[in-house]
Amino acid sequence: RAKENGKNQMEIYSSEINTLTMERFTMENQLRKALEREEFVLHYQPQFNLKNTEVIGIEALLRWNSSDRGIVSPMEFIPLAEETGLIIPIGLWVLKEACRQNKYWIDQGHRPKIVSVNISARQLQQKDFVQTVKSILEVTQLPTQYLCLEITESTAIKNIDISMNMLKELGELGIKIAIDDFGTGYSSLAMLKQLPISNIKIDKSFIRDMDVDKDDAAIVKAIIAMAHSLELTVTAEGVETEDQKNILLQEKCNYLQGYLYSKPLPAEECLRFVQG
Ligand code: C2E
Ligand code: MG
Ligand code: MG
Ligand code: MG
Repeated sequence: RAKENGKNQMEIYSSEINTLTMERFTMENQLRKALEREEFVLHYQPQFNLKNTEVIGIEALLRWNSSDRGIVSPMEFIPLAEETGLIIPIGLWVLKEACRQNKYWIDQGHRPKIVSVNISARQLQQKDFVQTVKSILEVTQLPTQYLCLEITESTAIKNIDISMNMLKELGELGIKIAIDDFGTGYSSLAMLKQLPISNIKIDKSFIRDMDVDKDDAAIVKAIIAMAHSLELTVTAEGVETEDQKNILLQEKCNYLQGYLYSKPLPAEECLRFVQG
């Protein structure tokens, strides 16, 4: 093929690389404009107390309603946002918007719930991150106990010393810290327990097959038991079936988040759902 169109292999590879680079560049530029164009939106997924199905919290999940691309999943743009540093302004918007929305719901007289916000490693590396969170809470007037920051296992471990100090400060303010996607990294609960965390979320890859795969079920049970012995609460993420729920209930898992009860929903729909 190289000979046919008169190009050598190098040219073909480099043109493929160029196409990829161009795509990323285009997406980066669109992402840059997305904030001004107000193309980001938060969806909210309720988190339930397993025992009585009461809604205890709501996770804010970012969506990009792109004029060029349609609805883009965070899996598709968060990695690029992290690489380019755009996650800093985007993450700031997410925090503000989630706090504003939660305060609004509380002001409307709804029973207060904790809003959970996902935080990237890049955000936690910002020296002024604690101050940023503080001022957002001041501006939005959301009481600190109604904010939870979700940090993945790898983020928490990546800069354990910096994380430790920041998370301690945030914890002292009354903000809750949860470890997201637990089980996918290389940390142990004992290691994480040095951080001021209150909850761990079992990654959905273990939940998915736990009703058919003995190994996954064993891992989930072990995580729950260990977390409880360290006095942490546990959320199972990605729960889709009654069978999964029943095993989790039996193992005394505390909280459930998953399609079984609700997908992430736009704010108004989430409120309607939560009110019953
Ligand atoms: P995550 O924080 O672990 O969020 C849970 C993901 O699982 C969400 O995907 C949610 O829609 C999905 N999920 C919940 N229940 C079920 C279920 O029963 N079955 C299945 N198959 N999936 C379920 P989503 O919204 O696509 O977000 C993906 C990831 O993108 C998040 O994973 C988080 O790591 C990241 N992300 C989302 N919003 C933000 C944000 O504002 N900031 C940052 N830094 N990351 C975000
Ligand atoms: Mg999360
Ligand atoms: Mg997760
Ligand atoms: Mg995840």
